[in-house]
Amino acid sequence: MLYHSTRCNTLTADSAQAVLEGLAPDGGLYLPEKIPAFDWKACLTGSSQDMSAMILSALLPDIPEMKTLVHRAYTGKFETEDLTPLVPVGDFSVLELFRGPTSAFKDVALSMLPQLLTAAKTEKGVKEDILILTATSGDTGKAALEGFRDVPGVRICVFYPDGGVSQVQRAQMVTQEGKNVYVCAVKGNFDDAQTGVKNIFAACQGKDLPYRLSSANSINIGRLAPQVMYYFRSYRDLLDAGKITLGQEVNFSVPTGNFGDILAGYLAKLLGLPVGMLICASNANNVLTDFIRTGTYNRLRPLLKTTSPSMDILVSSNLERLLYLLSQDTALVADLMGKLNKEGSYTVPGELLEKIQAQFWAAYCDDARASEIIGKVYHNLGYLCDPHTASGWAAAEDYVNETGDNRPMVVLSTASPYKFPAAVLEAIGGDLSGTEFQQMHRLETITGVPIPKNLSSLEGKAELHTGVIEKDAMLEYVLNL
Ligand SMILES: *Cc1c(COP(=O)(O)O)cnc(C)c1O
Repeated sequence: MLYHSTRCNTLTADSAQAVLEGLAPDGGLYLPEKIPAFDWKACLTGSSQDMSAMILSALLPDIPEMKTLVHRAYTGKFETEDLTPLVPVGDFSVLELFRGPTSAFKDVALSMLPQLLTAAKTEKGVKEDILILTATSGDTGKAALEGFRDVPGVRICVFYPDGGVSQVQRAQMVTQEGKNVYVCAVKGNFDDAQTGVKNIFAACQGKDLPYRLSSANSINIGRLAPQVMYYFRSYRDLLDAGKITLGQEVNFSVPTGNFGDILAGYLAKLLGLPVGMLICASNANNVLTDFIRTGTYNRLRPLLKTTSPSMDILVSSNLERLLYLLSQDTALVADLMGKLNKEGSYTVPGELLEKIQAQFWAAYCDDARASEIIGKVYHNLGYLCDPHTASGWAAAEDYVNETGDNRPMVVLSTASPYKFPAAVLEAIGGDLSGTEFQQMHRLETITGVPIPKNLSSLEGKAELHTGVIEKDAMLEYVLNL
């Protein structure tokens, strides 16, 4: 199946090649020329692994033996066999995406990506090593390191914003073991780190390097495609619970940063799943809320630090894929992305905005509201959620209040509350003294919700990666690996 760049119809690659490259050569993102025909009803009947294999075979048909790859990626790695459990909480259902090896939703995709990448490499007869370059706002880094550690023929290098991630997130990355892993802090914010990575790709284009560059960010279609599965899985769980009948539409509220998770929901919809409204939830960095409400995307604003750092983003890369999918116009997308780059903002044509608003709704919530929601959901409904999930909950509440749309609502839960113990403890009225690890234990004592083992075992582990560099030094760092 042929993929092409969102910025140019004739810049094509097959699906294995698209996974290998990550970013298209013109800086655009790869998408299939045509969404394949898909038996979405049959997909709902299998296990989570069956669903995953079926979806990935449809989207990435040039990568063979998908069932085996899926089995290798997920078997025994998640807390539950269904991978992403759906839990009823009050009027909503919470889709727990954080039951994987690093307690972040990104585990779903980053457990799978190494399998896809190494299979694509074999398929394409690529002999040289692959160097995965990743910028992280906190969670991608660890999930990618864990997914790629000691994978033969691959090295991985993760950049994170110095001071821009939680203590627990930092500990997760700097203690990473493995012979093929590099972790480095960058003086700057997430956007600086992400821009730095994009610049490295551009600078290395056509250069004779001892390895090939690829990406684990959701700009890689191999990272995005595995996320489609849990939309199907939660739909099936709603069916099994008798909450919907086959064909009935379900709304999803998605805590959003780079727009990857919610775009996977849109891909699920394009594959036939009865998805109603996709609600784009942001924190105080409300670029996407403004965009979906007005049609103007404006990154020229300060990046605020919030209690949901994985959503502290001003440039949401995957929005570009939505713009293409809804306009089918690569020249328009190239023009808008050029404006975003040069002028810092763009406005989409009215017709395109209408299409966006017919399927997406947006709201944001500041730290105070997120805290209030964590407290309320815990004290009134007995469920402990993290600040990212709280923003999803807030947007879902706002949506129902403003529209009266009462279709079943799934709120995606993207992190374990134990990744952000200070914010969660404060929200439920606990004492904030001590380190994040002490807070973690206090939170467990108060709530009785067990700390995931991968987090409690971080304490006392040796820090192996303590480098901090200027943002202008990222290219040099990579060339010296
Ligand atoms: C990455 C992340 C998000 C945002 O997901 P995108 O796909 O980038 O929109 C939300 N919550 C958490 C906890 C994350 O790690």
